[in-house]
Amino acid sequence: MIAVLKPGASRERTEHLISWLKDQGLGVHVSNGEFQTVLGLIGNTANVDMEMIQSLDIVEKVTRVSDPFKAAGRKFHPEDTVVRVGQAAIGGGEFSLIAGPCSVETEEQITFVAQEVKKAGAAFLRGGAFKPRTSPYDFQGLGAEGIRLLLEAKRATGLPIVTELMDIRTLDLFEDVDIIQVGARNTQNFDMLKELGKTDKPILLKRGLAGTIKELLMSAEYIMASGNEKVILCERGIRTYESTYTRNTLDLSVVPVLKRLTHLPVVVDPSHATGHTYLVESMAMAAAAAGADGIMIEVHNDPPHALCDGAQSLTPEAFARAARRIFKIREAMAE
Ligand code: PEP
Ligand code: MN
Repeated sequence: MIAVLKPGASRERTEHLISWLKDQGLGVHVSNGEFQTVLGLIGNTANVDMEMIQSLDIVEKVTRVSDPFKAAGRKFHPEDTVVRVGQAAIGGGEFSLIAGPCSVETEEQITFVAQEVKKAGAAFLRGGAFKPRTSPYDFQGLGAEGIRLLLEAKRATGLPIVTELMDIRTLDLFEDVDIIQVGARNTQNFDMLKELGKTDKPILLKRGLAGTIKELLMSAEYIMASGNEKVILCERGIRTYESTYTRNTLDLSVVPVLKRLTHLPVVVDPSHATGHTYLVESMAMAAAAAGADGIMIEVHNDPPHALCDGAQSLTPEAFARAARRIFKIREAMAE
């Protein structure tokens, strides 16, 4: 962190500031220019109150030069993190498709979809048991019964499962869940993130509805700072001024940006990002081409009658075609 002092800042006030900074446990490198003094702050500046320093009348500006996400950042952890579940892996060159319905509806539905997506090459089954719906009158998910049905589908197919936790009080129900999803509406539920940091479950952390890249990384940092390093980041589109033709705006540049900033695996969800079946395959291919470590796609046996998100769900046949094309992109990239 660098603090540039105003021209004419008195020596006494400058020294007072330097000794205060040192009291915060920071090293201070002083550089006296002809007109201005620049203080270079060395050490753990993550907890330094930038606004407080900025508000002092001898300070012109304060700039962070290092990232505040120490655990998620690449700087201290240059190798890619690989999250492994059984045979499946995400990150560090390992790529996985995660597929399944928005919501678990019946045993037949989830088991059938699980079998179909497995045949097409998916490595994980997704399905919501607890659903964060905008309206309280919409289908809220089957809850504990939904998790039981997912576990049935896991037994039938061997596919590990990914499902969303909405309330930390239900965590016990997730004991046999392979990856816990934190949905876009809970990305900044910091108390929940801290609790998930005390578990050893991989966490699929979605980007918030209008979350910045830094906010996403700081949310990952909450989980990691509490001890759980198995975090997978998920781009699922952000809210912009467009909402007529796409549900959200898919930010694909986030993939190479995150790859540069963090060692954590990055997954893209083109279903929630676009909201329309016809956009899912092309955006999934684009996400693979951008370097995503995984793609999560909603697949339903009967999209027009789905209890949630039918308009963006692929049929098993459409998913199989998309999967083939995504794997071709991966092959091309390996050259
Ligand atoms: C979901 O994956 O079903 C979901 C609700 O996603 P998001 O949190 O990204 O809206
Ligand atoms: Mn959905």
